[in-house]
Amino acid sequence: MKIGVLCSGGDAPGMNAALRAVVLTAAEWGAQVEGILFGFDGLIDNQTAPLLPEAVSGLARHGGAFIGSARSPRFLEKDFRQQAAEHCRRKGLEALVVIGGDGSYRGAAVFEEETGIPCVGLPGTIDNDLEGTEYTIGFQTAVQTALEAVDKVMDTAESHGRVFVVEVMGRDAGHIAANTAAAAGAHAVLIPEVPHQVPALLESFKRYQGAMRRRPIIIIYSEGESEVGREDLVRNLRTSFPQLDVRSLVLGHLQRGGPPVAADRILAARLGRNAVLALSRGLSGMGLGIRQGQLVHTPLAQCKKRQLPPESYLLELGSLGLHEWKS
Ligand code: ADP
Repeated sequence: MKIGVLCSGGDAPGMNAALRAVVLTAAEWGAQVEGILFGFDGLIDNQTAPLLPEAVSGLARHGGAFIGSARSPRFLEKDFRQQAAEHCRRKGLEALVVIGGDGSYRGAAVFEEETGIPCVGLPGTIDNDLEGTEYTIGFQTAVQTALEAVDKVMDTAESHGRVFVVEVMGRDAGHIAANTAAAAGAHAVLIPEVPHQVPALLESFKRYQGAMRRRPIIIIYSEGESEVGREDLVRNLRTSFPQLDVRSLVLGHLQRGGPPVAADRILAARLGRNAVLALSRGLSGMGLGIRQGQLVHTPLAQCKKRQLPPESYLLELGSLGLHEWKS
């Protein structure tokens, strides 16, 4: 058996650990793996490379996706998907493992439906916003990276008595923000899933403003927050509370990189291994994930963007710091 594997959409730490597990499990079962370079574009353009077991040695500890990851607008068109299928057939690829988010899963589902080439999806996205799994590959690392950055900002916030509004990633999901705020012991957290948070935040600031002067204050702001733009929030705080020194910081792409934490490496390896085992048993059209510690298979069409908001205890913990001034 010859399996193709690709990474699609935004990169996530742990994609390499998943690739390693796919290649080595295939080797264990006497199958070969072809790496498809830069997502679905690599299929369309016939850009692939054999992934030999020795080539993935030590790969699990590296962030990113060593075969490249990309978005492919062309793959939305049937003609290009047919071209991709033709390349698969000529290369002898009998199945595909697609590592990515809900968009990549849609691509895999339509590709299998149109061409009959079996596909299995692995949830590779830092945003933790995919149905079919409790955790996505890369999420825990992104939270750890954001946490380490906030810890560092907290040192300077303490030294100067400043307010920092820290923007974290997550697209329109607040999971990275909620978890980072809870772990960092932040004073407030703004996420897209919760409406009308800003008036309460301003009210708290008004109530405690005397005691807040020259105190370190951290507000975690999720990038998809739509109630107020980050710059508008900073402007509003500066105007309403001129005695406070308000700064803002966007963590940006550094949250995607770095060595994956243990939880992401184990998740990626477990799912990567089981992708090959599933295909070897003739199972396809599924996204793999973990629920309550157990491996689960969910039809790709059901693995949509997850709408489940972060649990409320995370939001409570992520804004507990505001009570520092209660007497
Ligand atoms: P993610 O997988 O992280 O959600 P995107 O939404 O950008 O990222 O999707 C990644 C890629 O998946 C797209 O660039 C496209 O190649 C493919 N894709 C997304 N939706 C479809 C679709 N409906 N049909 C075919 N391919 C799709």
